[in-house]
Parts: sequence; C-alpha cells; structure tokens
Amino acid sequence: MAGIITDMTTLKHVPAWQREFADSIRDPRTLLERLGIDDAGLHAAARRAPDFPVRVPEAYLRAMRPGDPEDPLFRQVFPFAEEAHSAAGFDTDPVGDLDAMARPGLLHKYRGRVLLVVTGACAVNCRYCFRRHFPYAEANAVNRHLETNLEYIAEDDSINEVILSGGDPLVLSDERLAPIARRLAAIPHLRRLRIHTRLPVVLPARVDDRLLAWIREMEIPVVTVIHANHANELTPAVGAALDRLAAAGCRLLNQAVLLRGVNDSPRAQVELGEALFDVGVTPYYLHCLDRVEGAAHYAVDDDAGARLLGVVRARLPGYLVPRLVREHAGEPAKTPVIGRGD
Ligand SMILES: *Cc1c(COP(=O)(O)O)cnc(C)c1O
Ligand code: SF4
Repeated sequence: MAGIITDMTTLKHVPAWQREFADSIRDPRTLLERLGIDDAGLHAAARRAPDFPVRVPEAYLRAMRPGDPEDPLFRQVFPFAEEAHSAAGFDTDPVGDLDAMARPGLLHKYRGRVLLVVTGACAVNCRYCFRRHFPYAEANAVNRHLETNLEYIAEDDSINEVILSGGDPLVLSDERLAPIARRLAAIPHLRRLRIHTRLPVVLPARVDDRLLAWIREMEIPVVTVIHANHANELTPAVGAALDRLAAAGCRLLNQAVLLRGVNDSPRAQVELGEALFDVGVTPYYLHCLDRVEGAAHYAVDDDAGARLLGVVRARLPGYLVPRLVREHAGEPAKTPVIGRGD
C-alpha cells in the first residue's frame, strides 16, 4: 500500500497550462466553426504553409467576437489566402537574423544584450510573425548548444542583459527554463534577464505558481516584455496573470506590431495604451511590420504609421505612447520611425 502511494505521488505532474497548450485549435476549419464565421474559400493559404500551421489556445479564442471576420484577434491568427501572395521586398529573413547569429540560436546584434532563441514553438502562431521562416531546428540556443552559449556570454563582459526569446520561451516547462535562468543569473556581469513572451496574453494559465516561484527567487531583475496588439486581448484573466507577475517582481513592458485591420487606427492605439495601463504594463515598442514573406497584407506604410502616432500622442499621456520603430538589418538599434515633414 505504501508503495502504491509513493508511486502515485511521484507521477509526473502535468501543469494545467500544458494541457491547455496541447488542446489548442490547430486548423482553420475548426477556428471558423467555433466562431461561426463563413468560410469564403479561405483555406488555400493554410494548405501551403504546413511549416507554420494555425495555432490558437482556447483562452485567446474566447476573447474573439463570434461571427465577425473583422475581429482584430481573429485577423492575427487566421491564414488568409493573401499569405500565398508574394510581394516585392518581402523575404524570409527580413531583419538579418541569420547574419547576427554569433553561435547557434544566439543573436548578438546590439551592444550590451544578446537574444537567445530557446524554442521555435509558440502558443499562438501570429500570421505576421517575422520569424515564421526561421530555421529553429538548427538554431536552438539551449538544446545542444547551451554550454557554448553560456560560455560566449560569460566571456564577454560587455553583455549585461540576456533576452530569452524564440518562438516563445514560456512554452518550455519550468523544469527546463528555471535552471537556464539560474545559470545566466550566476554570470557576474549580467544585470538583467529579459523574457519576451506572448503567453501571459494568449494563455494566461501559464503564469502559475511554479513559474512565479523561480522568478521570485531570481537574483537579478526580471523584465517581462509581453506582446499585446489590441485592448481586447487584455481580458480579466490576462490582467490577473500580469498582476501575479508584477507581484513576483517582474517589470512589465509591452511590444506590439502595427497591423493593418488590427490596430491601425488612433482609437485602437489609444484603447491599447489605456488598457495596458490598467493592467500595470508600460507600452514599449510599436514595431513597423518586418517585411516577411506571406505577411504583406498586414503592412501599414511607415508615413501613415508616423501620422497615426502623432494623433495618438495628442490623446494620451507621454508614458502611454509606444516608440514606433523599424528594424533595419545591420543598424545598432531599432530605428525610430518619423514621418516625412515631422
Ligand atoms: C530587438 C532585439 C533586441 C532588443 O532590443 P532593445 O532595443 O533592447 O529592446 C536584442 N537583440 C535582438 C537580436 C533584437 O532583435
Ligand atoms: S508569439 Fe511572437 S514569435 Fe510566436 S508567432 Fe507570435 S509574433 Fe511570432
């Protein structure tokens, strides 16, 4: 009897978020059915993108308006037929990631910080993603290459911040992630650990006690940069997850992408800024779309973006206005986008 009990208590505990992650919607037909949206011949693109399938967690689906093909969340995840169109200037490595790879999965583009690609997986596949063609299988920083990457960081004392990215780093289990974070924090010249993640927004159950436990114990400050593009994404469950992260000591910032038909109006941007404030998050970057193949239908002209931000600036306190930036391969930082005539 005692033996049975021991066996039961040592059974691997599967966190609730991992079950929710596994149960995500994986095909466009189910997504349309669940939302009650008519299919207007929209499957074409999905069939041509087997390497970047549809992926939508239930929690994110619940924040969408049923029956509305213009819903700003639906538009971020549905593979519209336009994905199959090619457009001039849109390619598979729009920001020079492959040239910036100092070691497998380690991007060293900017002074003082390096970015580790720790997984290729995400909880949601955003159709505009600039890394949708990234060679994740070879370029993973922590599978076979963790030791060489830790060495690289330890040997260069100009590096004071490491960014865990991907894919989405919080897709990894805490058993995988916490030891990596601890080893990084033990490097004397590291001052900050940054986590770039969309999980608190699309799968807030990820922010559970196990995650919070190791974050709370980190010996260096943890900055969490979430990714929300629209106020509708910041549901009460998301707000509660962000509260828990803040209580565990995380500084919270948001990065968004300026997307046609999603958030390219002053009203959408003002509402996003206000909603971020309400959940304790400071707007950081608003990225102009990286010109990645298959995403041209989301593009907003840079001048139009700059004009839009001008309107937003006149309606919000300065600290709720994000920095509109574009990434140019080879530049020493993200470049501010200023409209003609500004
Ligand atoms: C965007 C980016 C960073 C972070 O830049 P910040 O301006 O510090 O937010 C770091 N490394 C890479 C490779 C990036 O693309
Ligand atoms: S969560 Fe980030 S990395 Fe993942 S698909 Fe969306 S934009 Fe790309």
